[in-house]
Amino acid sequence: MSNIDIRIATLFRPELSTVSAYHVADATGYIKLDAMENPYTWPDEVIEQWLETLRHCALNRYPDPHARQLTAVLKQQIALNNRCELLLGNGSDEIIQILLMALPPAATVLAPEPTFVMYRQIAQSLGLNFQGVPLQTRDFDLDVAAMLAAVKKYRPALMFLAFPNNPTGNLFDAEAIRAILSATPGLVVLDEAYEPFADCSFMPQLQEFDNLLVMRTLSKLGLAGLRLGYLAGRREIINELDKIRLPYNINVLTQISAHFALTHTQLFAPQTAAIRAERAALMQQLNALPGIVAFPSAANFIMFRSAKAGAEELFMALKERGILIKNLHPQGGMLDNCLRVTVGKPDENKAFLSALRDSLGR
Ligand SMILES: *Cc1c(COP(=O)(O)O)cnc(C)c1O
Repeated sequence: MSNIDIRIATLFRPELSTVSAYHVADATGYIKLDAMENPYTWPDEVIEQWLETLRHCALNRYPDPHARQLTAVLKQQIALNNRCELLLGNGSDEIIQILLMALPPAATVLAPEPTFVMYRQIAQSLGLNFQGVPLQTRDFDLDVAAMLAAVKKYRPALMFLAFPNNPTGNLFDAEAIRAILSATPGLVVLDEAYEPFADCSFMPQLQEFDNLLVMRTLSKLGLAGLRLGYLAGRREIINELDKIRLPYNINVLTQISAHFALTHTQLFAPQTAAIRAERAALMQQLNALPGIVAFPSAANFIMFRSAKAGAEELFMALKERGILIKNLHPQGGMLDNCLRVTVGKPDENKAFLSALRDSLGR
């Protein structure tokens, strides 16, 4: 071992050697349908108005550490009740990190799997005990009995439920979630990153369950570049988490721009409606292809399985044709031969389908 290897082996937490950095594919030159981004931009006159709001922004000053204006708009839009409070994060990824940093070193973190990989990734990089409970193979819904058994066995301090789930796209059964919320003494984080594309939320249930936290992000709605996520929950819990948050985690450009976007409500509604309509069309056309099974989605992406052609080959063939999607096959298990495509603009979806037909045919 070289000196530097010895340093790494002795100075860093041993868990770090077992995790790898989150990989993001280089999308230069591709039709980008891999990361659940909203493909639509803003009309020119809206961009002009937005730039005007930035004109007087004080880049020489620290941002408001409590992002008060932005927080007030968010609270009003989600109709947060007065026993609850919000925590803002530099993306919901940062909120996941804050939540996990608050747990004691021996705590267990639970999530159904397959799900959003950052739960496991961040928990393990912090040395926490992460336990994944398999979803039902048939429809990717929660296996309630297995979840309740795991709650009993591991007494998780915290559980993540992505609602709708990524990468499968489905909404878990709401009654199953209620049963889990009632049975666990730990915190349950409902990750509603795809709420703009679903007609379902647990935000109203904050009244009912004091161990519930609801997390959202502006990323999938159409502001992935800004990095803004938020967590809603009982004030007492949020106040504890706020001690871990770095004081200026929401920069001034994000505060002003998110405030602008959220107060121009008509900006996103037509975009979200277009994405939902395209989702339905894409689903139908995927399922019409021989050897392809597309799974129902309440999000802005669709997961599908290729029965005949291997996912690996299909992914490469699409890439050769200029289309970048996500290959889930390397994650294995339930995701064998599965791929995930983000719903794009009509012409992007057309190009994807045509490249897919081509790739299946060869
Ligand atoms: C994309 C995604 C996130 C991360 O969102 P950011 O706010 O961009 O960090 C969180 N949870 C799920 C389930 C996601 O798919």
